[in-house]
Amino acid sequence: MPKKMLLVIDVLNDFVHSEGKLNCGEDAEKIIPFIVEKVNDFVQEKHPIVLVKDAHIIDDMEFARFPAHCIKETWGAEVIEDLTFLEVYPKVYCIEKQRYSAFYNTNLDEILKVEKPKEIYITGVCSNICVLYTVEELCNRDYKVFVYKDGVASFDTQAHEFALQQMENVLGAEII
Ligand SMILES: [Zn+2]
Repeated sequence: MPKKMLLVIDVLNDFVHSEGKLNCGEDAEKIIPFIVEKVNDFVQEKHPIVLVKDAHIIDDMEFARFPAHCIKETWGAEVIEDLTFLEVYPKVYCIEKQRYSAFYNTNLDEILKVEKPKEIYITGVCSNICVLYTVEELCNRDYKVFVYKDGVASFDTQAHEFALQQMENVLGAEII
């Protein structure tokens, strides 16, 4: 079996909980059971999982573009309750990021060098923002990337569709 890795991008209270500060809407809430199911599959097969977490300082420059969200060490920046069991999974990596890409100012490159996955699977929000800009960087590094179409979502349906097309047709990711 090829070595697989799962990325769970921004499945945090502020984005996918109904009381989150930057709630990504119904579509984002709907994908949670699918993500939990995939996480369980990867845990069962003992594959590494990377939890990518937005984690901002109070006056982060990003808040010029979006309302304040995912402030470090607040409830909003925590992973949703359905996934907290991952905290004790031996093969979980937690990455805190301040920008859209999971590579910017993080140790994701080092994690990939250690784990050497042959296939990387993507879940999370938002398809057209943090998912897209992370997939772009993975594809630049020539990783084989699979995006679960039922495992990604956005508050903007049109942008979601556009992002899926870009990831498939331009970046070469497989939408599955
Ligand atoms: Zn953010």
